[in-house]
Amino acid sequence: MSKYEKVDVALIGGGIMSATLGALLKHLNPKFKIAAYERLESVALESSNPWNNAGTGHAALCELNYMPDSKDGSLPNPAKAIEINEQFQLSRQLWASFVKLRILGSPETFIHSTPHMTFVRGAKNVDYLRRRATVLAKQPLFSGFEFSTSYTKIAAWAPLLIEGRDRNEQIAATRIASGTDVDFGAVTNQLFDFLAKKGTVVQVNSEVVSLRRVNEGWHLTIRDTKTGTKRYVQAGFVFVGAGGWALKLLQKAGIPEAKGFGLFPVSGSFLRTDKPELVASHRAKVYSQASVGAPPMSVPHLDSRIVDGNGSLLFGPYAGAIPKFLKQGSVLDLPLTIRLSNIRPYLSVALKNISLIKYLVKELAKSKSKQFESLREFMPNAEPADWKLITAGQRAQVIKRDAKGNGTLQFGTEVVTSADGSIAGLLGASPGASTSVHIMLEILKKSFEADFDKWSPQLKKLIPSLGIELNRDPKMAKKIMADTAKTLKLKG
Ligand SMILES: Cc1cc2nc3c(=O)[nH]c(=O)nc-3n(C[C@H](O)[C@H](O)[C@H](O)COP(=O)(O)OP(=O)(O)OC[C@H]3O[C@@H](n4cnc5c(N)ncnc54)[C@H](O)[C@@H]3O)c2cc1C
Repeated sequence: MSKYEKVDVALIGGGIMSATLGALLKHLNPKFKIAAYERLESVALESSNPWNNAGTGHAALCELNYMPDSKDGSLPNPAKAIEINEQFQLSRQLWASFVKLRILGSPETFIHSTPHMTFVRGAKNVDYLRRRATVLAKQPLFSGFEFSTSYTKIAAWAPLLIEGRDRNEQIAATRIASGTDVDFGAVTNQLFDFLAKKGTVVQVNSEVVSLRRVNEGWHLTIRDTKTGTKRYVQAGFVFVGAGGWALKLLQKAGIPEAKGFGLFPVSGSFLRTDKPELVASHRAKVYSQASVGAPPMSVPHLDSRIVDGNGSLLFGPYAGAIPKFLKQGSVLDLPLTIRLSNIRPYLSVALKNISLIKYLVKELAKSKSKQFESLREFMPNAEPADWKLITAGQRAQVIKRDAKGNGTLQFGTEVVTSADGSIAGLLGASPGASTSVHIMLEILKKSFEADFDKWSPQLKKLIPSLGIELNRDPKMAKKIMADTAKTLKLKG
C-alpha cells in the first residue's frame, strides 16, 4: 500500500488566499477531498492576521497610488482605480453570499463601514486631489465621493486631523462613506472553520517541506513542526498559498514557470492606540501621499480598526528592511531563493533600487520621535504616551524577469501556474486580501478549466456581477452595491 494519502486538493498555507480558494472549491464541488497545511500553530497568523495588515477594504477610494497625477496637469486617468474597485466588488459579493449561506458568520464579526478619506497639504497636492475627485465623483462605483478644502468640513469628517493644526496651511480631503474596514483574519478563520465542518483536514504545525511531480499530480512531504514526524500526501491539485514562502515552494516544485522570479522583502510596523477617547473621535481610514523615496505600499494612513468587536486606531505602516519573506520567516529567506535563473533579476533590481534600499534601511534606524513626527503630520495633537509600536506583517514584493533578462520590481500580485494547471502559487502582496476573490477566480479559471464553465451558474449566484464591468453599468452597480451593503450591514 502506498504511504501517500490521496486528496484532490492540497492547500499550502493558512492565510486568506488558501481559505478563499478552499471554500469556493468545497462549495462548487462538495465531493472534493481537500487538505490544508499550516506551519504555525494556527491559521491567520501571518499577513492575514488583523494586526499584521491595515484591514483596508482596498477599493481605490482613498489610495492615491492607484490613480497617480497626470504629467501635464490634466485630469488623471481612473482606469487602475476602477479596476481595483471592480475587484473589491467581487469580494463584497462573495462575502455577502457566504453570509447568506452561513459559510461566514454575521458581518459585524469581519466587516464594518468606515469612510475612506484622502488628506493632502500644499497647493500642488490640493490641485491634484481636486482633479482626482472631479474624475472619480462621476464614476458609478465611486458614487457619493466628496471633496473639500474647508477646515470646518474636514474637522466634521475627521476631527483629529484638524485639532492643533496651523490654519494658514492649505489642505484638502476627499471622503466616501462606502469604505470598509475588514478583519481579514476573521474571514480566514471562519472560512477554515467552514472547511473543517465539511470534512477538510486543516492541519496546523504542519510544514510542507517538499513537492514532487508524479503522474497523478503531486507528492507532498509534510513535517510536523512539533515532533519532526513526516506525513506523505498525494494531491491532484496544489495551491501554494504560503505568502512570502510561496516562491521557495514553487522552486522546490521545479516548475519552469517559477524561474526568473525573486522577492524583495519590506518589513513594516504600525503605531496603535486603544485609548477610548481617541478611538471615539476618529471613524475613518485616512490615506495620504508616500514620502519621497518610499515604496507605494508604505503610504501612511490613520485608520480606525475594529477587531473582535474592539476599536483601535492604527497609524503606518513604517516600512523597513528586514530580509525575511514572512514575519516568522528567516533572514536566510532571500539568499536561499537565489538561483542561476534569477540572479540577474535580483542584481538588477538591487542596482536600480539603491535609493529605495537606502530609504528602507534609514527608516528602520529612525528614532521613535522621528517616527512620531509622521503621525503628527496627520494628527498634530498626537501624544507619544498614547501609542505603542507593533510589528506588522512582512511583505515580499515580486521581482520579475523582463525580456532582457533583468528584473523589475512589481507592487502587485503574480499568479504562477504550471502549464498543466496542477499547481498554482501566489507571489506578492498588493492590493492583497481585499482582492483575494478576484485572484482565486483567476486560479479556478486556469487550474480547473474543464469545470469552470460547468460551475458558471453557481458562481453567478455567488457573484452576480461576474464577467460584467460594473462601472460601465450604473444601474447594476447601484443594485449590487445596495444589495451587498444590506447583507453586510454596510452604509452606501
Ligand atoms: C503591513 C501590511 C499591510 C497590509 N494591509 C492590507 C490592507 O489594508 N488591505 C488588504 O487588502 N491587504 C493588505 N495587506 C496584504 C494582505 O495582508 C495579504 O495580501 C494577504 O493577507 C495574503 O494572504 P495569503 O493567504 O497569501 O498569505 P498569509 O496570510 O501570509 O498566509 C500564508 C501562510 O502560509 C504559511 N506557510 C508558509 N510556508 C508554509 C509551508 N511550507 N507549509 C505550510 N504553511 C506554510 C504561513 O505560515 C502563513 O500562515 C497588507 C499586508 C501587510 C504586510
